[in-house]
Amino acid sequence: MNKIVFATNNEHKLREIRAILHDETEVLSLADIGCHADIPETADTLEGNALIKAHYVYDNYGFDCFADDTGLEVEALGGAPGVHTARYAGDDQDSQANMRKLLHEMKGISNRNARFRTAIALIQGGEEHLFSGEVRGTITTRALGRKGFGYDPVFIPEDTGKTFAQLGEDIKNQISHRARAVAKLIEYLNN
Ligand code: IMP
Repeated sequence: MNKIVFATNNEHKLREIRAILHDETEVLSLADIGCHADIPETADTLEGNALIKAHYVYDNYGFDCFADDTGLEVEALGGAPGVHTARYAGDDQDSQANMRKLLHEMKGISNRNARFRTAIALIQGGEEHLFSGEVRGTITTRALGRKGFGYDPVFIPEDTGKTFAQLGEDIKNQISHRARAVAKLIEYLNN
């Protein structure tokens, strides 16, 4: 069986990938290979950070590996928070504080256009491959809905009229930035 590492310990992401990859590929987490490092994400692009994580595993553990990095890019804020999405309001990665800061920064701004973008880097036999997915939408003026995580209550994907936190996981997984990037990765790996 082929083994490939997904440079994450996020159970939700691991479950999602394992469900759609062919049976002959075993997906290992960072914990599965004994990697407990807090891999520094020091690049200034999503692709750069995904590459850092995937290379870290390939170089130190010798496994083929893929890694993802996601950012919320708001047009009126010049693409912010972008690579700083997780830590927008501080190093503790507090989603509530992040959303409060975003809504505050956007007070009085009528252009609410934004997109979520996910970059996935795959290192396979030492070669780099990049995949990306995005979903366009708008930022609300207040948090709406209780499902999901991160910025889900303040992001309305286009053509839905509801936030990700109102739409829920099933619909989100059909249209999300990550689902679209993962679909490209899976298509590549399964062929
Ligand atoms: P990561 O690269 O998947 O860790 O995502 C970075 C940050 O983006 C997270 O800490 C979340 O705040 C945010 N984020 C990523 N994906 C989503 C999503 O699907 N909905 C809402 N926020 C997200």
